[in-house]
Amino acid sequence: MTDISNSDVPPPVGAAPRRQTRATVVRWGGHAVQVGGGAPVVVQSMTNTDTADAAATAAQVRALAQAGSELVRITVNTPEAARAVPAIRAQLDRMNVSVPLVGDFHYNGHKLLGQFPECAQTLSKYRINPGNMGGGKKRDDNFAQMIEVACRHDKPIRIGVNWGSLDHELLARMMDDNARRAQPWEAQAVMRDALVISAISNARRAEELGLNPNAIVLSCKVSHVQDLITVYRDLSARCDYPLHLGLTEAGMGSKGIVASTAALAVLLQQGIGDTIRISLTPEPGGDRRREVVVAQEILQTMGLRAFTPMVVACPGCGRTSSTVFQELANDIQAYLREQMPLWKTRYPGVENMNVAVMGCVVNGPGESRHADIGISLPGTGEVPSAPVYIDGERTITLKGDNIAVEFQAIVENYVQRRYGRSAHASQS
Ligand code: SF4
Repeated sequence: MTDISNSDVPPPVGAAPRRQTRATVVRWGGHAVQVGGGAPVVVQSMTNTDTADAAATAAQVRALAQAGSELVRITVNTPEAARAVPAIRAQLDRMNVSVPLVGDFHYNGHKLLGQFPECAQTLSKYRINPGNMGGGKKRDDNFAQMIEVACRHDKPIRIGVNWGSLDHELLARMMDDNARRAQPWEAQAVMRDALVISAISNARRAEELGLNPNAIVLSCKVSHVQDLITVYRDLSARCDYPLHLGLTEAGMGSKGIVASTAALAVLLQQGIGDTIRISLTPEPGGDRRREVVVAQEILQTMGLRAFTPMVVACPGCGRTSSTVFQELANDIQAYLREQMPLWKTRYPGVENMNVAVMGCVVNGPGESRHADIGISLPGTGEVPSAPVYIDGERTITLKGDNIAVEFQAIVENYVQRRYGRSAHASQS
């Protein structure tokens, strides 16, 4: 029989230590966001407004920043968009939104950055795609122009290589070299290698052109989970630049969330990744902030960062007699998230709070006891009352039609008592 007793040492828990990287600092005014160098994994997002519409873009940047995006990328694709960038920044500054803006450039970035110096100065970072800059000498010249602007304005860059726009000349060369191997690799393996080589060789070239090595972040985005994991493991082993993680074209709804989470969780668990973006396709009219919430939830559920109190809720089953507990779980989750912009400054540490909303007596009391504050709603055939547990102790029992409102008030009261300034003062 297999021996199932444990050794003297408990199994280790948690992610591997973060990979050591250079530190890249992205600034706006007095506000600085560090990517890599041991800093917490940074959450970023991207707008989908027409950048030339300064008012709409500023409004969406503000919404993303308020949801918790620490960097926001905007498309800069036309002279009108480049001209709008300073206006967007000015509007954000008037609204006290200090989030740094990253400009996303393809094809004509060298021209736009040269022709619109105010745009170049206003952006806090440039995303450069070396696969979309023409070919041969033209490509080299265009790249050199963008690096020259980055050096002149002292801006960091991301060299963002993408599966869908990989440098054709590099890939063709590598395919030819592969054909001469004694045992040629599969084409897909050569493409993965080409992504990594493209990112690192362009970073080295940027350094040769005078860019500070601490001003470079890399990404190699692909749309399949296993390819992404392989590419980033390889990339992280071959350089020490901070890495931007994201599964490109992840898709809509649960497919996009699951694919992004599966890929990023494996890498983050291995200590790989310094900033993340979740590329979800929004439903028509959908809320762009969802990509920020998902990014935060990945990091928080993995225990890497805390952003907002977490609600533990059971899935419900044949023992739940109504939708009351689903509604309560949903309402309390939304309430906690809505409060965070205020609570963050007023109640430091509240983002680590755990709340349980459970559907019946089977796991309700146990799970509620493990949470900071929990409620166990009655299942089918149980006495219609809902005991509330605070710090592991059973306290008040709620009854009647106002359970949701009363529970919310209890949570608010608990937050004030446990995380308010007076609570901190009495602990110190
Ligand atoms: S706690 Fe009760 S209602 Fe919830 S899943 Fe478990 S058995 Fe079902």
